[in-house]
Amino acid sequence: MAFENLTERLSKAMKNLTGRGRVSEEDLRATMREIRLALLEADVNYDTVKKFVANVREKASGADILEGLNPAQQVVKIVNDELTITMGEEAVPLNKSPKIPTIIMMAGLQGAGKTTTVAKLAYKLKKEENARPLLIAADVYRPAAIDQLEILGRDLEIPVFQLGTAVNPREIVRQGLAKAAENKNDYVFIDTAGRLQIDDVLMQELKDVAEIAQPDEILLTVDAMTGQNAAETAKGFSAALDLTGVVLTKLDGDTRGGAALSIRDVTGKPIKFVGQGEKPTDLDVFYPDRMASRILG
Ligand code: GDP
Repeated sequence: MAFENLTERLSKAMKNLTGRGRVSEEDLRATMREIRLALLEADVNYDTVKKFVANVREKASGADILEGLNPAQQVVKIVNDELTITMGEEAVPLNKSPKIPTIIMMAGLQGAGKTTTVAKLAYKLKKEENARPLLIAADVYRPAAIDQLEILGRDLEIPVFQLGTAVNPREIVRQGLAKAAENKNDYVFIDTAGRLQIDDVLMQELKDVAEIAQPDEILLTVDAMTGQNAAETAKGFSAALDLTGVVLTKLDGDTRGGAALSIRDVTGKPIKFVGQGEKPTDLDVFYPDRMASRILG
């Protein structure tokens, strides 16, 4: 189960509190110490943890809460609310263009789940909105990526535009967009190249593609299992590209939760979707409040 380690640690910290008839400032301090450790162990960004703990402490301390009714329950609620705020408060919907097509550019490091996510999201829109997406294969450095997109497209009955690996991505995108206009596709997804790490060549290429495509969304896929590194990666991409959101993949394998809790705070960018498995249907809208409840168990 996702976040099981964090859930266990946090509920232990809270249980200490609920066992008491009344909650003193000292009890609260001890609980906050536990919460701080739980978050650090979950690989949440250090500054995010500091801010989180300070906010909870400020909202929870004082006579109103500690000497009021059910102080322990109130502290749990404050923690729950703060988790929600840290993850962005509200679900942020996909940006849509007033006229077709809505163009969604997907970026991310190699192996983060970019190609899989393109297929998942296109499939979601096809099912939910009867959409007619076109997928553009613009990752020319990894021939397997084009094949992978072709296979996914065939399975899901979604057309894929590709020109192999010999044409540069800018030209592929130009021609792909012309194709989409001709076919009146309502969504266009651009699957871009990834690298093992951020480098200038990759960023320049992504900037060039973005300039040609003028996307409505630039979604970054990051692997939840990389913890706060996912947030650092997002920060790096964000410095070069106008990211509109993040897709957090592989949440199904993440026992810690550091990525989910750090990304919004570190980058200011909303997590829009989460990948929770390898199947095309394993993609969900990210709701900060539901995620907070899930984390608290
Ligand atoms: P790309 O290099 O960023 O395009 O990454 P891929 O889309 O090829 O994905 C890399 C691997 O991660 C593949 O084996 C995917 O099946 C897997 N993957 C992607 N998203 C998820 C997810 O949400 N959960 C799990 N368990 N695996 C995923």
